[in-house]
Amino acid sequence: MKKIKKFIQRKTLIYKTEVEYGDYTMNHVLGCSHGCLYPCYAYLQKKRFGDVKSYKDWCEPALVENTLELLDEELPRFKSKIQMLHLCFTTDPFMYQYKEVQDMSLAAIKKINAAGVKCSVLTKGVLPIELAELSKDNEYGVTLISTNETFRKRMEPGSAPWKKRLDALKALHNAGCKTWVSIEPYPTPNIVKQDMQKLLDEVSFVDCIIFGRMNYNKEVTLYAEHKKFFNDSAAEVMLFCNKHGISYHIKEGTITD
Ligand code: SF4
Repeated sequence: MKKIKKFIQRKTLIYKTEVEYGDYTMNHVLGCSHGCLYPCYAYLQKKRFGDVKSYKDWCEPALVENTLELLDEELPRFKSKIQMLHLCFTTDPFMYQYKEVQDMSLAAIKKINAAGVKCSVLTKGVLPIELAELSKDNEYGVTLISTNETFRKRMEPGSAPWKKRLDALKALHNAGCKTWVSIEPYPTPNIVKQDMQKLLDEVSFVDCIIFGRMNYNKEVTLYAEHKKFFNDSAAEVMLFCNKHGISYHIKEGTITD
């Protein structure tokens, strides 16, 4: 396990997101030790606005230590408006090997559920089985864009090995929880050669799949047939989901003319 070295205080926590499939969200950590190199959009934004100085700074997470106090203040005000509170958009709530982040996320989800609000959770870490004891209306997801562990180490260096992520998700599914997978940002074959069918077979137990193309990466546009590739990949996801009774959402801009 790794120790948190930085703690911060925030004035507000819950906010409404403009992201297409999101409702309300919260980010109770600044930075993310997973250090994804696609690159990570959250990192680019935080660096641009001066919230973090460098990639190294980003990879050393700062925990918002007054998270639970802020939830006590804000939940009474927000709870009637929130359909689903998402953890998180600019960090990872179950950051791999950071127990303090994981404990804070679990405590936050308990508090949110106690206010009658359900949560959706997305991670590249390992979802704890304790989540199965919380509201069965919660939705637990992992990001999985490849089953190639060499690629995972190169592009998501601080994240959990993909198999560990998926095993934890499956355990929650087996315990009766709603589960989902985000296959985003999906890379082109010049970044990693892989078989989409193998990836889909691995995640065939989930209730929902979100699929989206890789953006902000020069390599993608260097792949001459990237538009056709993303159109074909999206079609493969939709076909698979229809065949297996899985709901899906294809992110805007993934399918193009
Ligand atoms: S897990 Fe998400 S927030 Fe963390 S570095 Fe990767 S893309 Fe960014």
